Amino acid sequence: MPCAGSAAAADPAGARASDLIRAESGALHTEALSLQGITKRFGDVTAVDGVDLDLPRGELACFLGPSGCGKTTLLRLIAGLEAPTRGRIHLGRDDITDLPAHRRKLGMVFQSLALFPHLSVAENIAYSLRVRGDAKRDRRQKAQELLELVQMPDVADRHIAQLSGGQRQRVAIARALALEPELFLLDEPLSALDAKLREEMQIELKLLQQRLGITSILVTHDQREAMTMADRVVVLNAGRVQQVGTPLEIYRRPANAFVADFIGTSNLLRCEVADGTRVRVHGHTIAVDSLPDGLRAGAGATLSIRPEDVRVQAGTAAEGDGRLGGTVAFVRDVGQSVELYVDCGELRLISHVPPRDKPAVGQGDAVAVELPAAACTVLAQ
Ligand code: ATP
Repeated sequence: MPCAGSAAAADPAGARASDLIRAESGALHTEALSLQGITKRFGDVTAVDGVDLDLPRGELACFLGPSGCGKTTLLRLIAGLEAPTRGRIHLGRDDITDLPAHRRKLGMVFQSLALFPHLSVAENIAYSLRVRGDAKRDRRQKAQELLELVQMPDVADRHIAQLSGGQRQRVAIARALALEPELFLLDEPLSALDAKLREEMQIELKLLQQRLGITSILVTHDQREAMTMADRVVVLNAGRVQQVGTPLEIYRRPANAFVADFIGTSNLLRCEVADGTRVRVHGHTIAVDSLPDGLRAGAGATLSIRPEDVRVQAGTAAEGDGRLGGTVAFVRDVGQSVELYVDCGELRLISHVPPRDKPAVGQGDAVAVELPAAACTVLAQ
């Protein structure tokens, strides 16, 4: 059983008395989990490469990145299912680097839920309590409380085979919470569900996590899931942290070209710094609000602008800081938005507009394109 923990009494809302005391003393938002210089090598492969990370108490963090970037390995290191090659892990004040998994006060939910098919729902949920030696009556009561928490009060005596995919998911979540862990770890727990149920469960799980105030980490490669659920997104690539921020910070102010490209859709344009407030892209001059520190005139960089920030109007434009003339190369109407591909000389830009704001233009028409300075992010190379 991958979950262990202390047996602090829970109040009806699921918050612990000790947490409430900490909240009153103002110390609730100190770091729950701290990683210092964590590296993990498997032979020649460096799966996690010098990760430093502090996660505040009570937040839900998402590890997000492409396949093979080290998300699961990092989670397994935190869980104690792998030992780091280098670095230390603290949970609160405790250095847990050398603690075995069952002594780390954490609950885990995996993609393969690993429920016991021969046990009832209540027995599954209370399994870790049985291992700990809790009395049968207490186990039953706790399982029922947890079933109410995950909004399935009437299924305690059913067998796992009699549950839907979403219900099994809730049982796995309840089971991981049975020992009231300090840290809740979820490794792609919703990926086996169909798209609609998955979206519903994302919101339900987020609301549950908020209600319990339990520090949680979710591994996902699905950016929509991360944007829905995370207080803080940790973007990883090739074993390294690329950026840590709120979903909106990551989306609006990507730290580098990898993040800008990986999160959502972006126009990523090679550019050269002209002066302190302008860059040049294929002969066009574009005004920007700010430049990264240390970038001087003549330096190469990447300009990032989201398609929803690119404005397109019918007609021609007087070229100038961020205003470009172009020709519509292609229009794609995908129902919820209209995508316009516009060629401005050698430069191709993508603009997304809500259907009601679609300019009256079609393929081959001349258009004026505007790139607002506030929406342009310059990324160092
Ligand atoms: P995915 O989204 O595909 O699950 P991930 O981001 O979770 O990927 P990891 O599973 O952490 O990535 O793997 C990171 C790298 O470490 C990969 O190159 C992987 O092949 C390698 N790796 C992971 N576990 C082992 C292992 N036990 N032995 C050898 N290499 C491993």
